Amino acid sequence: MHTKHRILTYVIYGVGATTVLGLIGWGIGWALGSAAGKSGAAGQTSPEIEVVLPTATVTVTMATSTPVVVATATPEPTPTHTPTPTPTPPPLPFEEAFIYGTSVEDRPLQGYRLGTGASARFIVGAIHGGYEWNTVEVVSKTLEYYREHREELPSNVALYLIPLANPDGYAAGRDAIVGRTNAHSVDLNRNWDYTWQPTATHGIRPVSAGTAPFSEPETAALRDLLLEKRPDAVIFYHSAMGVVFSGADRENSFTYELAEAIAAATGYRHQTEGIPGQITTGDAIDWLSSVGIAGAEIELTTHASIDEAEWQRNLNGIKAFLDWQAPQAGVADEGATVETPSGGVPINGQPTPEPLAGYKWYTIPEKITLSYIVYEICQNSNITLDELVELNQIADPDLVGAGDTILIPEDCQ
Ligand SMILES: [Zn+2]
Repeated sequence: MHTKHRILTYVIYGVGATTVLGLIGWGIGWALGSAAGKSGAAGQTSPEIEVVLPTATVTVTMATSTPVVVATATPEPTPTHTPTPTPTPPPLPFEEAFIYGTSVEDRPLQGYRLGTGASARFIVGAIHGGYEWNTVEVVSKTLEYYREHREELPSNVALYLIPLANPDGYAAGRDAIVGRTNAHSVDLNRNWDYTWQPTATHGIRPVSAGTAPFSEPETAALRDLLLEKRPDAVIFYHSAMGVVFSGADRENSFTYELAEAIAAATGYRHQTEGIPGQITTGDAIDWLSSVGIAGAEIELTTHASIDEAEWQRNLNGIKAFLDWQAPQAGVADEGATVETPSGGVPINGQPTPEPLAGYKWYTIPEKITLSYIVYEICQNSNITLDELVELNQIADPDLVGAGDTILIPEDCQ
Protein backbone atom coordinates (compact mmCIF):
# COMPACT_ATOMS: atom_id res chain seq x y z
CA MET A 1 0.00 0.00 0.00
CA HIS A 2 1.25 3.49 -0.79
CA THR A 3 2.05 5.71 2.09
CA LYS A 4 -0.63 8.18 1.14
CA HIS A 5 -3.25 5.48 1.12
CA ARG A 6 -1.97 4.23 4.35
CA ILE A 7 -2.17 7.59 6.00
CA LEU A 8 -5.65 8.04 4.63
CA THR A 9 -6.63 4.65 5.97
CA TYR A 10 -5.16 5.48 9.35
CA VAL A 11 -7.06 8.73 9.36
CA ILE A 12 -10.27 6.92 8.55
CA TYR A 13 -9.67 4.23 11.08
CA GLY A 14 -8.48 6.85 13.53
CA VAL A 15 -11.68 8.78 13.09
CA GLY A 16 -13.62 5.55 13.27
CA ALA A 17 -11.89 4.50 16.45
CA THR A 18 -12.35 7.89 18.03
CA THR A 19 -15.99 7.86 17.13
CA VAL A 20 -16.43 4.38 18.52
CA LEU A 21 -14.68 5.31 21.74
CA GLY A 22 -16.71 8.48 21.96
CA LEU A 23 -19.90 6.60 21.37
CA ILE A 24 -18.99 3.91 23.87
CA GLY A 25 -18.22 6.61 26.40
CA TRP A 26 -21.51 8.28 25.54
CA GLY A 27 -23.29 4.95 25.81
CA ILE A 28 -21.80 4.26 29.23
CA GLY A 29 -22.62 7.78 30.30
CA TRP A 30 -26.17 7.25 29.13
CA ALA A 31 -26.42 3.89 30.88
CA LEU A 32 -25.08 5.34 34.14
CA GLY A 33 -27.33 8.34 33.87
CA SER A 34 -30.21 6.04 33.27
CA ALA A 35 -29.28 3.81 36.21
CA ALA A 36 -28.85 6.84 38.44
CA GLY A 37 -32.24 8.02 37.28
CA LYS A 38 -33.76 4.78 38.53
CA SER A 39 -32.49 5.22 42.02
CA GLY A 40 -33.30 8.91 41.94
CA ALA A 41 -36.63 10.69 41.81
CA ALA A 42 -39.29 8.61 40.09
CA GLY A 43 -41.14 9.83 37.03
CA GLN A 44 -38.29 11.91 35.66
CA THR A 45 -38.24 10.81 32.05
CA SER A 46 -35.30 12.47 30.47
CA PRO A 47 -35.89 13.66 26.92
CA GLU A 48 -32.32 12.59 26.11
CA ILE A 49 -33.22 8.94 26.17
CA GLU A 50 -34.90 9.00 22.76
CA VAL A 51 -31.90 10.76 21.25
CA VAL A 52 -29.26 8.54 22.78
CA LEU A 53 -30.83 5.15 22.32
CA PRO A 54 -30.42 4.83 18.54
CA THR A 55 -26.76 5.82 18.63
CA ALA A 56 -26.16 2.95 21.01
CA THR A 57 -27.02 0.55 18.22
CA VAL A 58 -24.73 2.47 15.87
CA THR A 59 -21.90 1.80 18.29
CA VAL A 60 -22.36 -1.92 17.85
CA THR A 61 -22.26 -1.78 14.04
CA MET A 62 -19.21 0.46 14.05
CA ALA A 63 -17.43 -1.72 16.54
CA THR A 64 -17.82 -4.82 14.39
CA SER A 65 -16.52 -2.96 11.37
CA THR A 66 -13.25 -1.95 13.01
CA PRO A 67 -10.80 -4.78 12.56
CA VAL A 68 -7.42 -5.48 14.07
CA VAL A 69 -5.88 -2.88 11.82
CA VAL A 70 -6.78 -0.23 14.32
CA ALA A 71 -4.24 -1.67 16.70
CA THR A 72 -1.50 -1.85 14.08
CA ALA A 73 -2.43 1.49 12.63
CA THR A 74 -1.78 3.44 15.80
CA PRO A 75 1.68 2.34 16.79
CA GLU A 76 3.23 5.69 15.89
CA PRO A 77 4.86 7.69 18.58
CA THR A 78 2.19 8.84 21.00
CA PRO A 79 3.49 7.76 24.40
CA THR A 80 3.05 11.33 25.62
CA HIS A 81 3.57 12.39 29.19
CA THR A 82 0.00 13.52 29.61
CA PRO A 83 -0.85 12.48 33.17
CA THR A 84 -3.93 10.31 33.17
CA PRO A 85 -6.46 12.01 35.40
CA THR A 86 -7.15 9.74 38.35
CA PRO A 87 -10.87 9.29 38.85
CA THR A 88 -12.04 10.65 42.17
CA PRO A 89 -13.10 7.69 44.31
CA PRO A 90 -16.53 7.89 45.89
CA PRO A 91 -16.40 9.25 49.46
CA LEU A 92 -16.03 6.64 52.20
CA PRO A 93 -19.10 6.05 54.32
CA PHE A 94 -18.87 7.15 57.96
CA GLU A 95 -18.96 3.57 59.19
CA GLU A 96 -17.60 0.40 57.70
CA ALA A 97 -17.34 -3.11 59.14
CA PHE A 98 -14.52 -5.31 57.92
CA ILE A 99 -12.91 -8.69 58.51
CA TYR A 100 -9.12 -8.61 58.76
CA GLY A 101 -8.40 -12.30 59.21
CA THR A 102 -9.53 -15.52 60.86
CA SER A 103 -8.65 -17.20 64.14
CA VAL A 104 -7.16 -20.67 64.64
CA GLU A 105 -10.69 -22.04 64.89
CA ASP A 106 -11.75 -20.09 61.81
CA ARG A 107 -13.71 -17.39 63.55
CA PRO A 108 -13.69 -14.06 61.69
CA LEU A 109 -11.54 -11.27 63.11
CA GLN A 110 -13.96 -8.38 62.99
CA GLY A 111 -13.20 -4.67 62.91
CA TYR A 112 -15.08 -1.42 62.45
CA ARG A 113 -13.98 1.92 61.11
CA LEU A 114 -15.78 5.11 62.11
CA GLY A 115 -14.92 8.41 60.49
CA THR A 116 -12.70 9.14 57.53
CA GLY A 117 -9.94 11.40 58.88
CA ALA A 118 -6.28 11.01 58.01
CA SER A 119 -5.20 10.15 61.54
CA ALA A 120 -5.93 6.48 62.27
CA ARG A 121 -6.54 5.43 65.90
CA PHE A 122 -7.10 1.88 67.10
CA ILE A 123 -8.88 0.54 70.16
CA VAL A 124 -8.45 -3.19 70.64
CA GLY A 125 -10.37 -5.35 73.10
CA ALA A 126 -9.95 -8.87 74.46
CA ILE A 127 -6.58 -9.95 73.17
CA HIS A 128 -6.87 -12.02 76.34
CA GLY A 129 -10.19 -13.50 75.27
CA GLY A 130 -12.91 -14.48 77.70
CA TYR A 131 -10.67 -13.93 80.72
CA GLU A 132 -10.92 -10.21 79.94
CA TRP A 133 -14.38 -10.37 78.38
CA ASN A 134 -15.44 -7.01 79.84
CA THR A 135 -12.99 -5.27 77.51
CA VAL A 136 -15.32 -6.34 74.67
CA GLU A 137 -18.00 -4.46 76.54
CA VAL A 138 -15.95 -1.25 76.62
CA VAL A 139 -15.03 -1.35 72.94
CA SER A 140 -18.61 -2.21 71.95
CA LYS A 141 -19.93 0.67 74.03
CA THR A 142 -17.42 2.93 72.29
CA LEU A 143 -18.75 1.78 68.92
CA GLU A 144 -22.33 2.49 69.97
CA TYR A 145 -21.36 5.84 71.45
CA TYR A 146 -19.71 7.21 68.32
CA ARG A 147 -22.42 5.80 66.09
CA GLU A 148 -24.89 7.89 68.08
CA HIS A 149 -22.62 10.93 68.52
CA ARG A 150 -20.73 10.97 65.29
CA GLU A 151 -20.34 14.76 65.54
CA GLU A 152 -18.10 14.15 68.58
CA LEU A 153 -15.60 12.15 66.59
CA PRO A 154 -12.78 14.56 65.63
CA SER A 155 -12.92 15.16 61.89
CA ASN A 156 -9.21 14.38 61.44
CA VAL A 157 -9.67 10.88 62.90
CA ALA A 158 -10.51 7.46 61.49
CA LEU A 159 -11.28 5.31 64.53
CA TYR A 160 -10.71 1.57 64.13
CA LEU A 161 -12.41 -0.59 66.72
CA ILE A 162 -11.54 -4.25 67.25
CA PRO A 163 -13.86 -5.41 70.03
CA LEU A 164 -12.57 -8.99 70.15
CA ALA A 165 -8.99 -9.70 69.09
CA ASN A 166 -9.06 -13.26 70.44
CA PRO A 167 -12.44 -14.79 69.57
CA ASP A 168 -11.39 -18.40 70.29
CA GLY A 169 -10.35 -17.53 73.83
CA TYR A 170 -13.61 -15.65 74.27
CA ALA A 171 -15.55 -18.71 73.15
CA ALA A 172 -13.56 -20.94 75.52
CA GLY A 173 -14.82 -19.28 78.70
CA ARG A 174 -13.79 -16.76 81.30
CA ASP A 175 -11.05 -18.53 83.22
CA ALA A 176 -7.44 -17.39 83.36
CA ILE A 177 -6.05 -20.37 81.46
CA VAL A 178 -8.10 -21.54 78.48
CA GLY A 179 -10.16 -18.37 78.30
CA ARG A 180 -7.07 -16.18 78.11
CA THR A 181 -5.16 -17.89 75.30
CA ASN A 182 -6.05 -18.68 71.70
CA ALA A 183 -6.91 -22.19 70.47
CA HIS A 184 -3.19 -23.07 70.29
CA SER A 185 -2.98 -22.23 74.03
CA VAL A 186 -0.78 -19.26 73.16
CA ASP A 187 -0.95 -16.03 75.16
CA LEU A 188 -1.45 -13.55 72.32
CA ASN A 189 0.07 -10.70 74.29
CA ARG A 190 3.38 -12.57 74.49
CA ASN A 191 3.51 -13.38 70.75
CA TRP A 192 4.67 -10.03 69.30
CA ASP A 193 8.13 -9.39 67.97
CA TYR A 194 9.66 -7.52 70.88
CA THR A 195 12.21 -9.42 73.00
CA TRP A 196 10.12 -12.49 72.17
CA GLN A 197 10.93 -15.81 73.81
CA PRO A 198 8.95 -19.07 73.63
CA THR A 199 7.86 -19.02 77.25
CA ALA A 200 6.80 -15.97 79.21
CA THR A 201 4.57 -15.66 82.26
CA HIS A 202 1.20 -14.43 83.41
CA GLY A 203 2.04 -13.28 86.90
CA ILE A 204 4.52 -16.01 87.76
CA ARG A 205 2.68 -18.80 85.89
CA PRO A 206 4.46 -19.82 82.65
CA VAL A 207 2.52 -19.28 79.43
CA SER A 208 3.29 -20.24 75.85
CA ALA A 209 4.29 -17.35 73.62
CA GLY A 210 3.97 -19.43 70.44
CA THR A 211 6.60 -21.03 68.26
CA ALA A 212 7.89 -17.69 66.91
CA PRO A 213 6.94 -14.03 66.95
CA PHE A 214 3.59 -13.70 65.17
CA SER A 215 3.20 -17.48 64.88
CA GLU A 216 -0.52 -17.03 65.63
CA PRO A 217 -3.01 -15.97 62.96
CA GLU A 218 -4.72 -13.51 65.34
CA THR A 219 -1.53 -11.52 66.04
CA ALA A 220 -0.17 -11.74 62.48
CA ALA A 221 -3.44 -10.39 61.07
CA LEU A 222 -3.57 -7.56 63.60
CA ARG A 223 0.06 -6.65 62.96
CA ASP A 224 -0.63 -6.48 59.21
CA LEU A 225 -3.67 -4.29 59.74
CA LEU A 226 -1.74 -1.96 62.05
CA LEU A 227 1.16 -1.65 59.64
CA GLU A 228 -1.23 -0.98 56.79
CA LYS A 229 -3.13 1.78 58.60
CA ARG A 230 -0.13 3.22 60.49
CA PRO A 231 -2.20 4.62 63.37
CA ASP A 232 -1.03 7.63 65.35
CA ALA A 233 -2.21 6.05 68.57
CA VAL A 234 -3.45 2.67 69.81
CA ILE A 235 -5.15 1.42 72.96
CA PHE A 236 -5.21 -2.22 73.99
CA TYR A 237 -7.77 -2.92 76.70
CA HIS A 238 -7.06 -5.41 79.50
CA SER A 239 -8.40 -6.21 82.95
CA ALA A 240 -8.10 -5.92 85.81
CA MET A 241 -5.24 -3.96 87.37
CA GLY A 242 -6.74 -0.49 87.11
CA VAL A 243 -3.66 1.14 85.60
CA VAL A 244 -2.26 2.38 82.29
CA PHE A 245 0.93 0.96 80.79
CA SER A 246 3.17 2.47 78.14
CA GLY A 247 5.44 0.61 75.73
CA ALA A 248 9.13 -0.05 76.26
CA ASP A 249 10.63 1.97 73.43
CA ARG A 250 10.36 5.63 74.29
CA GLU A 251 13.08 6.61 71.87
CA ASN A 252 11.12 5.54 68.81
CA SER A 253 7.57 6.47 69.78
CA PHE A 254 5.44 8.71 71.93
CA THR A 255 4.02 5.82 73.93
CA TYR A 256 4.93 7.45 77.23
CA GLU A 257 3.26 10.75 76.35
CA LEU A 258 0.14 8.91 75.17
CA ALA A 259 -0.10 6.90 78.39
CA GLU A 260 0.31 10.11 80.41
CA ALA A 261 -2.58 11.74 78.54
CA ILE A 262 -4.82 8.70 79.05
CA ALA A 263 -3.90 8.44 82.72
CA ALA A 264 -4.75 12.09 83.25
CA ALA A 265 -8.15 11.71 81.58
CA THR A 266 -9.17 8.37 83.13
CA GLY A 267 -7.66 8.72 86.58
CA TYR A 268 -5.90 5.35 86.22
CA ARG A 269 -2.29 5.59 87.34
CA HIS A 270 0.39 5.38 84.64
CA GLN A 271 2.42 2.43 85.92
CA THR A 272 5.85 2.88 84.41
CA GLU A 273 7.57 0.03 86.21
CA GLY A 274 5.68 -2.79 84.43
CA ILE A 275 4.41 -5.77 86.41
CA PRO A 276 6.95 -6.93 88.98
CA GLY A 277 7.74 -10.64 88.70
CA GLN A 278 5.96 -11.11 85.39
CA ILE A 279 7.84 -11.92 82.18
CA THR A 280 6.04 -9.79 79.63
CA THR A 281 8.10 -10.53 76.54
CA GLY A 282 6.40 -10.32 73.13
CA ASP A 283 4.01 -7.62 74.32
CA ALA A 284 1.89 -5.78 71.72
CA ILE A 285 2.52 -2.19 72.81
CA ASP A 286 6.22 -2.82 73.31
CA TRP A 287 6.35 -3.94 69.70
CA LEU A 288 4.25 -0.95 68.59
CA SER A 289 6.61 1.42 70.36
CA SER A 290 9.57 -0.17 68.60
CA VAL A 291 8.05 0.44 65.16
CA GLY A 292 7.28 4.06 65.96
CA ILE A 293 3.59 3.74 66.88
CA ALA A 294 2.36 5.15 70.18
CA GLY A 295 0.40 2.52 72.08
CA ALA A 296 -0.92 2.21 75.62
CA GLU A 297 -2.61 -0.56 77.59
CA ILE A 298 -5.55 0.34 79.76
CA GLU A 299 -6.32 -2.13 82.55
CA LEU A 300 -9.90 -1.92 83.80
CA THR A 301 -10.38 -2.26 87.54
CA THR A 302 -12.55 -5.38 87.45
CA HIS A 303 -13.20 -8.66 85.65
CA ALA A 304 -16.93 -8.07 86.05
CA SER A 305 -19.28 -6.08 83.85
CA ILE A 306 -18.25 -2.43 84.01
CA ASP A 307 -20.50 0.00 85.84
CA GLU A 308 -21.46 3.47 84.71
CA ALA A 309 -18.65 5.15 86.64
CA GLU A 310 -16.00 3.00 85.00
CA TRP A 311 -17.55 3.53 81.58
CA GLN A 312 -17.50 7.31 82.10
CA ARG A 313 -13.85 7.45 83.08
CA ASN A 314 -13.00 5.34 80.04
CA LEU A 315 -15.10 7.52 77.77
CA ASN A 316 -13.12 10.48 79.11
CA GLY A 317 -9.94 8.60 78.35
CA ILE A 318 -11.09 7.72 74.84
CA LYS A 319 -12.02 11.34 74.13
CA ALA A 320 -8.55 12.42 75.26
CA PHE A 321 -7.06 9.64 73.15
CA LEU A 322 -8.93 10.82 70.05
CA ASP A 323 -7.88 14.44 70.64
CA TRP A 324 -4.30 13.48 71.45
CA GLN A 325 -1.62 14.71 69.10
CA ALA A 326 1.90 13.38 69.08
CA PRO A 327 4.16 16.17 70.29
CA GLN A 328 5.46 17.67 67.09
CA ALA A 329 8.96 18.90 67.53
CA GLY A 330 8.96 22.56 66.71
CA VAL A 331 5.23 23.13 66.79
CA ALA A 332 5.83 26.12 69.02
CA ASP A 333 8.72 27.21 66.88
CA GLU A 334 8.00 25.82 63.47
CA GLY A 335 10.60 27.75 61.54
CA ALA A 336 13.34 26.19 63.59
CA THR A 337 12.76 22.64 62.41
CA VAL A 338 13.23 23.35 58.73
CA GLU A 339 16.50 25.03 58.04
CA THR A 340 18.62 25.72 55.08
CA PRO A 341 22.03 25.29 56.61
CA SER A 342 24.46 27.84 55.28
CA GLY A 343 26.93 25.20 54.25
CA GLY A 344 24.13 22.92 53.07
CA VAL A 345 25.84 19.86 54.41
CA PRO A 346 23.56 16.85 54.15
CA ILE A 347 24.39 13.72 56.05
CA ASN A 348 26.14 12.08 53.15
CA GLY A 349 28.74 14.78 53.50
CA GLN A 350 28.40 16.20 50.00
CA PRO A 351 28.06 19.96 50.38
CA THR A 352 25.38 21.28 48.09
CA PRO A 353 24.25 24.83 48.74
CA GLU A 354 20.83 24.44 47.15
CA PRO A 355 18.46 21.57 47.81
CA LEU A 356 17.30 19.62 44.76
CA ALA A 357 14.24 21.04 43.05
CA GLY A 358 11.12 19.89 44.86
CA TYR A 359 13.00 19.20 48.09
CA LYS A 360 14.06 21.10 51.16
CA TRP A 361 16.58 20.66 53.93
CA TYR A 362 15.35 19.23 57.20
CA THR A 363 17.41 19.05 60.35
CA ILE A 364 16.16 16.12 62.41
CA PRO A 365 14.99 17.17 65.87
CA GLU A 366 15.27 15.09 69.05
CA LYS A 367 13.30 11.82 69.15
CA ILE A 368 12.30 11.97 65.50
CA THR A 369 12.96 8.82 63.50
CA LEU A 370 13.14 8.38 59.74
CA SER A 371 9.89 6.37 59.91
CA TYR A 372 8.25 9.23 61.72
CA ILE A 373 9.44 11.62 59.03
CA VAL A 374 8.02 9.37 56.29
CA TYR A 375 4.71 8.51 57.92
CA GLU A 376 3.96 11.73 59.74
CA ILE A 377 5.88 14.75 58.59
CA CYS A 378 5.82 13.63 54.95
CA GLN A 379 2.50 11.83 54.96
CA ASN A 380 1.20 14.09 52.19
CA SER A 381 4.06 13.26 49.89
CA ASN A 382 4.33 9.77 48.50
CA ILE A 383 7.91 9.20 49.54
CA THR A 384 8.70 5.81 51.05
CA LEU A 385 11.32 5.02 53.64
CA ASP A 386 13.46 3.33 50.99
CA GLU A 387 13.22 6.34 48.72
CA LEU A 388 14.20 8.69 51.53
CA VAL A 389 17.20 6.52 52.35
CA GLU A 390 18.15 6.39 48.68
CA LEU A 391 17.66 10.11 48.16
CA ASN A 392 20.00 10.92 51.01
CA GLN A 393 22.42 8.09 50.29
CA ILE A 394 22.05 6.90 53.84
CA ALA A 395 24.29 3.90 54.46
CA ASP A 396 22.87 2.98 57.86
CA PRO A 397 19.44 4.40 58.80
CA ASP A 398 20.07 3.49 62.45
CA LEU A 399 22.91 5.99 62.61
CA VAL A 400 20.79 8.91 61.41
CA GLY A 401 19.52 11.04 64.24
CA ALA A 402 18.95 14.39 65.88
CA GLY A 403 20.98 17.18 64.35
CA ASP A 404 21.51 15.45 61.00
CA THR A 405 20.26 17.33 57.97
CA ILE A 406 18.49 15.47 55.21
CA LEU A 407 16.53 16.27 52.08
CA ILE A 408 12.79 15.79 52.30
CA PRO A 409 10.05 16.55 49.77
CA GLU A 410 8.96 20.18 49.77
CA ASP A 411 5.35 19.31 50.69
CA CYS A 412 6.33 17.72 54.00
CA GLN A 413 4.85 19.60 56.95
ZN1 LIG B 1 -4.72 -8.84 79.53
